[in-house]
Amino acid sequence: MIEFMPRSGPPEAMHCATVICDACRQQVHGAGNLVWGRRMGSDETGKIEHTPLFAAHKGACDRALDNWLKKQYPQGQWLLMWEELGDFLKQLAYNSEHAFTDDTKGEYHKTILKMPSSDLHAETPTFDPQR
Ligand SMILES: [Zn+2]
Repeated sequence: MIEFMPRSGPPEAMHCATVICDACRQQVHGAGNLVWGRRMGSDETGKIEHTPLFAAHKGACDRALDNWLKKQYPQGQWLLMWEELGDFLKQLAYNSEHAFTDDTKGEYHKTILKMPSSDLHAETPTFDPQR
């Protein structure tokens, strides 16, 4: 997930925005993946349900996260979508400067955020990089 990491030390104590791996709880820098899910179809209101955004290192961490997410958001009901960290950050930077309401060519839809049924960090089948 995107989080703030408290840091002490010079030049001053601060909170640093960063991407934290949802499998091993270490910083993701360089090669990494982001994943989110969308429920197949729509509910009766026409709103689209989606998951929070998760992050993982490539390799064992994203495999562990994928396995955990499929238990939280069952296949057949949910579609998990993966994106490279760098591509996501480029899109995020662009969207932070450009309002959806100024996009006359596209239509943005209301969504419902569906949190996982259990506490992610209490139950993630954590990949331990020390093993
Ligand atoms: Zn990791």
